Amino acid sequence: MNNEIQVFLNKLSEEFFLFAPQQDGAVINIKEVRDIGDVDWSGRMPTNTWKALFLPAREKMFDISDGRLVKSKTSQPKIAAIGVNVVDLKALTLLELVFSRDVYYQERRCNTLIIGYSSSWPNDYKKYKIFSHNFEEDILEHLIFDIFIAQFAVGRMKIYSGSEKGQHILEEGGIKDYEHIEFAGPISEKGPDKKMLLLKKKMESSQGKRIWHELNKICIACGKCSINCPTCFCFDLEDSVDPDNPERVRKWGSCFYNDFSLVAGGGKELDTVSKKIFFWYYHKFVRIPFEYMMPGCVGCGRCSKVCPVGIKIEEVLKKV
Ligand code: SF4
Ligand code: SF4
Repeated sequence: MNNEIQVFLNKLSEEFFLFAPQQDGAVINIKEVRDIGDVDWSGRMPTNTWKALFLPAREKMFDISDGRLVKSKTSQPKIAAIGVNVVDLKALTLLELVFSRDVYYQERRCNTLIIGYSSSWPNDYKKYKIFSHNFEEDILEHLIFDIFIAQFAVGRMKIYSGSEKGQHILEEGGIKDYEHIEFAGPISEKGPDKKMLLLKKKMESSQGKRIWHELNKICIACGKCSINCPTCFCFDLEDSVDPDNPERVRKWGSCFYNDFSLVAGGGKELDTVSKKIFFWYYHKFVRIPFEYMMPGCVGCGRCSKVCPVGIKIEEVLKKV
């Protein structure tokens, strides 16, 4: 990364806690930055996701005071998420739409600066080929970010702002040479993604097909795919009735977990693994495209990498 950006990030660290992809043993993980030199600019997909910065795995929503629910404070310092690749920006754009009226999410978002990044170097996630994610300027206007750094070769780059906050921070940091891109909504002028529409059509007619019964025998319903997915956002609400510490908590859920879809009286809609896995795919490739005109999968490949029994989303989709 060139000197101008290094100086800019060092200045940013005076105001923000920086988080970025970094080498962590054999993998790349998103972690707090202790030294700007540790940031990984290779464009490799981090193993973990950015969603925990906006949707913590466990979050207190309400305290109970004098028998009434009182909103808990979201205590999040100012954070700069640095080096968010195009695939993960797409995932954050979806979360932003889903949680547009969620005060907890939005309070965190207000306190976070998102700095996207694309390099021209080969990226491992491109092999998943579920959707194409090359950096192009007309893609940026459909993504939510504050600042974006496009690196074309060592030392050669172009900088964009995607919000007033981004513009302000760039100017304050002494970076004048940038282009402003206004968010134009998630759908491109050419219309919704054709591959997304095709997958939606195929998925709609796939219930009961052999693939889901085959997966029933293999999948162990551990939920690792959904917990590690940057777009999975289902959650559970849990009330503690401890009289000394009553609280309502929101925590990450997964359609693979045993209590998912369990209702009072003991009924459960998703009572087999094949129903659970079908539901997971149906949500991503039918319901989310229907509600948001965006795919519920951004093709990062994390689910395929973490699945302990080797289920690969790209292979499942080919069969569908
Ligand atoms: S990670 Fe694999 S085994 Fe676990 S729930 Fe997902 S598909 Fe099933
Ligand atoms: S490839 Fe898997 S982990 Fe990545 S967005 Fe799609 S479903 Fe989620």
